[in-house]
Amino acid sequence: MSGDNCFEILDKIFQAKNPQNIENIKGYTIKYGNIIDNNKNIVDEVLVSYFKAPKSYTTENMCEINTHGGIVVLRKILDLCLKNGADMAEPGEFTKRAFLNGRIDLLQAESVIDIINSKSEKEAKTSINQLEGHLSKKIHEIKQKILDVMVNVEVAIDYPEYDVEDATNEQILNMLDSVEVDLKALENSFDNGKLIKEGIKTAIIGRPNAGKSSLLNAILKEERAIVTDIEGTTRDTIEEFVNINGIPLNLIDTAGIRDTENEVEKIGVKKSKEIAKSADLIIAIFDSSKELTSEDIEILDFIKEKNVIIVLNKIDLKTIIDEKNEKLNEVSKNIIKISALNETGIEELYNCISKMFNLNEINVDNEIIITNLRHKNLISKAIENVKKARETLENSMPSDIIAIYIKDILEVLGEITGEEVTENIINEIFAKFCLGK
Ligand code: GDP
Repeated sequence: MSGDNCFEILDKIFQAKNPQNIENIKGYTIKYGNIIDNNKNIVDEVLVSYFKAPKSYTTENMCEINTHGGIVVLRKILDLCLKNGADMAEPGEFTKRAFLNGRIDLLQAESVIDIINSKSEKEAKTSINQLEGHLSKKIHEIKQKILDVMVNVEVAIDYPEYDVEDATNEQILNMLDSVEVDLKALENSFDNGKLIKEGIKTAIIGRPNAGKSSLLNAILKEERAIVTDIEGTTRDTIEEFVNINGIPLNLIDTAGIRDTENEVEKIGVKKSKEIAKSADLIIAIFDSSKELTSEDIEILDFIKEKNVIIVLNKIDLKTIIDEKNEKLNEVSKNIIKISALNETGIEELYNCISKMFNLNEINVDNEIIITNLRHKNLISKAIENVKKARETLENSMPSDIIAIYIKDILEVLGEITGEEVTENIINEIFAKFCLGK
């Protein structure tokens, strides 16, 4: 519970073994006792942690009840809190209060949800860096650069009779260049940020029986996809996440791509093509123990513009096509030989993906990486404003017009950290949180 009345409410439902007046209980203290209902029956034996304003997550008075858990007891305790005057928290309300009360900025608040939703260590590390305030600090540095020059612009506006214009213009131009370099670096980091957050959208495609499901299974090392001898039974798509060098690989096993009259399969084929279109990476799998069929050629044809790794499967059988095959080489030089059945060659496949996306070079420890599309869009907008300000300057427009564009940059940056953000956007951001965070 968080807020002015939380200790009062706690008092009605908690019987400490060693009772003390709230004034005498220090923050960061844990007390042992029982939660009791209105009839003084014991609901559970608990530990209660006390946090006193302003030294708490929300900066308000807070207490946390640690119970043994289980649905019934949890509900009962929650019910007792509500009956005695507490309100149910909205999703993300604790973090929202921490933000509204000024303990953290919006960037840090948003990192909390990213930490919770992290699918890989790199993503978690990037989010923790953001919670620590690395990105906030960078944005503030950029803002400070702008503010420093703003002073000169204001002088030029207020005292046009002084001949400060030329010197000021050069200074502003230098500042704009320097700010643009900083913003561009952040904008560019989003390529990696997107990889870290969303993973590499990978479609496994190939004609029926090439071994798509078997490969997926070999990667997942568990039998989630149904492996079957009957052609065209993998009708729907299966999606899984695996980690490669700390980056999630979002694997999609598509239905066998081929011409078919069967209605259900047709939908699958269409979907396969669609997924292949939007994928960051295509793993095209072929049966190395058979000649390429017309279906294989059709597949090669529609993936040739994409990022493709060709996988020659079933190398445990007699080899009919190998990595020297011309048709394959025309589409991709990344050709890996595997046996999905025996789980050989999977490591080579991983290494190939790693190399293709420079995964080893993504350094989450020392670099500031943008992973959030909202931030990326605002940074792009700020860069646009920098360009407009420069144009204005180069066209010798009056200082007050330049000042407007410079203020726009500040405003956009303020939207990132939350100083200039509207209530709607705040609500939207916190609605994505889970309850109780
Ligand atoms: P999909 O239709 O592309 O998903 O293919 P499946 O994964 O269902 O595999 C089709 C058949 O090929 C199954 O009988 C698998 O056991 C077999 N298979 C898959 N990979 C290999 C492999 O590396 N070697 C051998 N010998 N058979 C394989």
